[in-house]
Amino acid sequence: MAKSESTVKINTVLGPISPDDMGVTLPHEHICSGYPGWNLDEFSPALDFKTIADNAVAKIEKAKAYGLKTMVDPASMDFATDPALHRISPAGPVST
Ligand SMILES: [Zn+2]
Repeated sequence: MAKSESTVKINTVLGPISPDDMGVTLPHEHICSGYPGWNLDEFSPALDFKTIADNAVAKIEKAKAYGLKTMVDPASMDFATDPALHRISPAGPVST
């Protein structure tokens, strides 16, 4: 049985949305990335996730001027992500 548009939802950090509400979408972007174990490399620079998030918000705001509404960041939890980066969506730039 095919699903109607009203039952199909995309899970985002802002909650489920209809595919019709996605708008212009970047389908595979990483706010920050590093292969598993990056943080064990003593030569890796320390990451400041707040600064990374602030920079990402500024760049996403510019992309919104071109119609960006949704961004997919498929990073796994061991891919140098950080809960601080989740504040990007509640800040309101785009759905992720
Ligand atoms: Zn990727």
